[in-house]
Amino acid sequence: MTPPYDPDNIFGKILRGEIPAHTVYEDADTLAFMDVMPQGEGHTLVIPKAPSRGLLDAEPSTLTALIATVQRVGRAVKTAFAADGLTVFQFNEPAGGQTVFHLHVHLVPRHEGVPLKRHEGGMADNAVLAEHAARIRAALDDAA
Ligand code: 5GP
Repeated sequence: MTPPYDPDNIFGKILRGEIPAHTVYEDADTLAFMDVMPQGEGHTLVIPKAPSRGLLDAEPSTLTALIATVQRVGRAVKTAFAADGLTVFQFNEPAGGQTVFHLHVHLVPRHEGVPLKRHEGGMADNAVLAEHAARIRAALDDAA
């Protein structure tokens, strides 16, 4: 049986401001920030503020807000990194590849011929993540 949502997960802590994140976008329902172990330059995570472990236990209204932010931030991520494409993925439960149990969607800008790096490979440099977040925020501002 799937365990219940545990608010003590890392993204829950980010939402409560208990641990830092390189935030690129926030509204009443969603938050987007840089993945600390990026699978490519600009790897960004989008999460709903409402608690759910994954896609399957989320309220439809939560998903509506989430996908709108995925599209908005996805456009900015693609622009910020002058990417040829955008990979969007989402995992559910350990068997599905999930490691953090608060619903999140991965956005990775892609360039022709450049493969994705390993899931949860190395930690990125903080200054690099800060610069990438600033680039995405600028693209969001330009799009507004
Ligand atoms: P999942 O496998 O659950 O879909 O992916 C979780 C993601 O969260 C991974 O890509 C991992 O690099 C990222 N991650 C893990 N811990 C942290 C953290 O403390 N901060 C941020 N920003 N990302 C994290």
